[in-house]
Amino acid sequence: MLCTDCQSGYHAPYDRFERLAANPEAPSYLMRCRQCGALWNESSGMPELLTRTHARWLYPEARI
Ligand SMILES: [Zn+2]
Repeated sequence: MLCTDCQSGYHAPYDRFERLAANPEAPSYLMRCRQCGALWNESSGMPELLTRTHARWLYPEARI
């Protein structure tokens, strides 16, 4: 279940996210919502809500 903040997207307050992993080549960052555990991919484009499987595939080193 997404929290009400994540339901409306990746937006402020950003302190609700913690950074789990980074891909310096993209660059992109795997972010997790502290409220609901949703995983987001933050990059130069539109932030993307990730499934756990997709997040693991993008960030194999992340402990999720
Ligand atoms: Zn959330």
